[in-house]
Amino acid sequence: MNVVDVIVKEDYCIGCGVCAGICPSNNLHMDWSNKGELIPNSNDKCKVKCSLCLDICPFNNHTTNQDDIVKLLFEKVPKINYNEYAGYYLNCYVGFHVDEEKRIKSASGGLASLFLSSLLEENVVDKIIAVGNVGDINRIFDFKILSNSDEVYSCAGSAYYPVEISRVLTKIIKEKEELTYAIIALPCVVYALRLAIEKIPKIKKKIKIIGSLTCGQLQNRYCTELLALESGLTVNSLSKMDFRRKSVKNSASNFLQVAMDKDGTEGIPQPYQELPFFLWHYQFFKQNACNYCDDVFGELADVTFMDAWLPEYVKDYKGTSLIIARTLLTKSLLESSDELDLNEIKIEKVLESQQGIIKKKRILLKGRLYKKELNNSWYPKKRVNSDKNIYNKNKEFIELTDEIKELSKYLWPKYRLCSSTNEFWKDFNELKSKIKRYENKTRLKNLSKLPVIYLKKVFRGLRW
Ligand SMILES: Cc1cc2nc3c(=O)[nH]c(=O)nc-3n(C[C@H](O)[C@H](O)[C@H](O)COP(=O)(O)OP(=O)(O)OC[C@H]3O[C@@H](n4cnc5c(N)ncnc54)[C@H](O)[C@@H]3O)c2cc1C
Ligand code: SF4
Ligand code: SF4
Repeated sequence: MNVVDVIVKEDYCIGCGVCAGICPSNNLHMDWSNKGELIPNSNDKCKVKCSLCLDICPFNNHTTNQDDIVKLLFEKVPKINYNEYAGYYLNCYVGFHVDEEKRIKSASGGLASLFLSSLLEENVVDKIIAVGNVGDINRIFDFKILSNSDEVYSCAGSAYYPVEISRVLTKIIKEKEELTYAIIALPCVVYALRLAIEKIPKIKKKIKIIGSLTCGQLQNRYCTELLALESGLTVNSLSKMDFRRKSVKNSASNFLQVAMDKDGTEGIPQPYQELPFFLWHYQFFKQNACNYCDDVFGELADVTFMDAWLPEYVKDYKGTSLIIARTLLTKSLLESSDELDLNEIKIEKVLESQQGIIKKKRILLKGRLYKKELNNSWYPKKRVNSDKNIYNKNKEFIELTDEIKELSKYLWPKYRLCSSTNEFWKDFNELKSKIKRYENKTRLKNLSKLPVIYLKKVFRGLRW
């Protein structure tokens, strides 16, 4: 039995590729599923009794969960603190890169790139593993091995697109040189890597520092394709995407999403608070695994980077980062750099900046687990328990978003090669009244005004 028989079958695979990268029989290879997601496929060459892929999968059950691992990693760090949602933390910071060009090209304040670059400059590691545009129509973004600061800064920005690490992991396991690496990844990938480090000495020897991004959710490949089509490009010509283009006219949270074709021609920029926000909020194309993820802050990472989604910082379109440092090395590297504007910030402010995601991953999750139990479905053990009351209270949202998630993935392949998204939206007519009903009830209490205006446009029938 391998991950394909359990995790992929039950639709909990996030497509990280760690299983395929470490498989001793070279039995698993990552490829696109018909839902627009990366999943491992099996050649059925598993060795008898081998369960390595299941042992490292972040969506399988394990005898040591994230809480056990973080204890071993960070509990003994002098002066370490602990918070239920953020895990261990030594210090939290708010800041940005003082080089304005680098700051503007980054996703938030540019501190993730600055940190990774300083690891190379200070000879802490030989190489960085990060994600960047590759300009391949079949995989717009991918994990890359980077050797210098210029390469690191060229990967700045956020890839809201599936990426998998199998090829890079296989390379570093097989290579003869004794190179060391730092990696930046999403919390689920960090969990898989920590589990792999426990099992595979070669990975433990090579991966020295792990950084994480705070993560709310990941949409599949189809979401990017829809944005490209909305912007006037065809899906087949899409080869690059800038998900976080900053605009002096907008706040930091209303960045632009810009699709580009092979020749560098740009589509019409899509402001995040309009269609992209609508897609994210209602979970169009959302990867199912993300609804069963309980790690907001990449608790298993040495350091975590995120957006300063706080009113006092969001006004500045140039972007501001928040950081959680969990080791003395990451703390001292950040504090000694003269390329950043950095101040300490309380953990409460960090939590406040991500309160919506904490609710989804730690509270709403309890309701989703209850729904699984109602349907007699298997789910991986989480750090929260199922809760009937939370399910009942949020039933409408859970059912609505589950329906949208599945229908969008089912319908998009029919329409992706069309010249516009009109036919796709028409097929959502039935769900229109459900969304409207839900909107009327909740009156979009917590959302900003722009999406309301956009939604009104949508409901007036412009897109449906
Ligand atoms: C799918 C996703 C969801 C996110 N959700 C949230 C959220 O809910 N709240 C929040 O505050 N922040 C979230 N972030 C993080 C945020 O978008 C920024 O990446 C973060 O603030 C760091 O910004 P920066 O300017 O310091 O980084 P930059 O200097 O721009 O560097 C970003 C680094 O992240 C790496 N990277 C980009 N995309 C990926 C990826 N998919 N997988 C692995 N590495 C990647 C790049 O290679 C680069 O090294 C999310 C990021 C992603 C990719
Ligand atoms: S290890 Fe990653 S790619 Fe493999 S099955 Fe688990 S989630 Fe999917
Ligand atoms: S929400 Fe969780 S499972 Fe989904 S991409 Fe982010 S860290 Fe991974």
